[in-house]
Amino acid sequence: MKRLRFLPRQKLAVATAIYWFLLLYIIAALFFWYIRLQQQNQQMASYKLLELVADDPKYIGKVETIQQEADRKAYQYRGEGITFLAIILVGAVFVFRAVRRQFKVAAQQHNFMMAITHELKTPIAVAKLNLETLLKHRLEESRQQKILQMTLQETNRLNDLTNNILISSQLEAGGYQKVQQEVDLTELGNKMIQEMRQRFPDNQFNFEAPPDLSIKGDPLLIRILISNLLDNAVKYSPRGAVVDTVMKQTGKQVVIEVRDPGPGIPDAEKQRIFKRFYRIGNEEVRKAKGTGLGLYLCRKIAADHHGTVAVTDNTPAGAIFTITLPSL
Ligand code: ADP
Repeated sequence: MKRLRFLPRQKLAVATAIYWFLLLYIIAALFFWYIRLQQQNQQMASYKLLELVADDPKYIGKVETIQQEADRKAYQYRGEGITFLAIILVGAVFVFRAVRRQFKVAAQQHNFMMAITHELKTPIAVAKLNLETLLKHRLEESRQQKILQMTLQETNRLNDLTNNILISSQLEAGGYQKVQQEVDLTELGNKMIQEMRQRFPDNQFNFEAPPDLSIKGDPLLIRILISNLLDNAVKYSPRGAVVDTVMKQTGKQVVIEVRDPGPGIPDAEKQRIFKRFYRIGNEEVRKAKGTGLGLYLCRKIAADHHGTVAVTDNTPAGAIFTITLPSL
């Protein structure tokens, strides 16, 4: 596994070395030919000057013509050389960026596959173990309830994960049939916050919304949108953190804010985190589990509902994710 993880990086290093070698070779060859042509030009001019007869009455005029021709050629070579160099450099930058992007996408997809495998295996293993325990041992009622509750939590996680994967690939391929109906956000929010309180009893969830705040949209997609933000708020914040969710109507728009007291998002990452498979930091040192699909899906769902999702800094620390959707 470890070897596989480093493979794209090694390949990238080899490709980069070959690339620099070729580029330097091409530029060196260009300079070599430029110098050779200039030398030839000067040689030709001096041969022509030698051929001139000194007592020719047009001698000075002919010398000037030969000099002018040599100068013109020198300018021409310089101009062509600079044009070639510019084309080569523009092409080189283009190829460099394209190859790097390609490798990055390949590495992200590779990480995604590993994360997915892990994310799928853990809840299945936990659920299996819990069910086997229930089958094998006669446990007291309260203990049984606790194990069943844990199993349900893992199944919910599995459900969220598969929803994220399936819906994002369906949305990507245009295969998802979006439903358009009235969605009562206040009711949905209340229900989801209730579920979060059950799933994460250590955290505190505050919820604020006016009664009957509604939008038109697909209930499943809106649920996934809010759920991904709530999950992230818990996942990336310290244990027991307070997560605030506020829904409000501003003009013709509905605004949903999810605020957490976690590490927040550095300015340089604020746009990138919405890209597919993108996760901040390095796969080897990252502690939080994930696939890099959540926020990508959030942005896609918001856009499909003619809305937006953005991130700003919370005070004193943390992130505020803001969804804006057109109201009914
Ligand atoms: P995942 O959580 O599966 O990695 P997401 O698309 O949901 O993928 O998030 C992308 C990245 O953005 C995360 O890997 C994380 O680094 C960062 N991120 C998302 N939400 C938060 C948050 N509330 N606080 C801090 N960082 C976050």
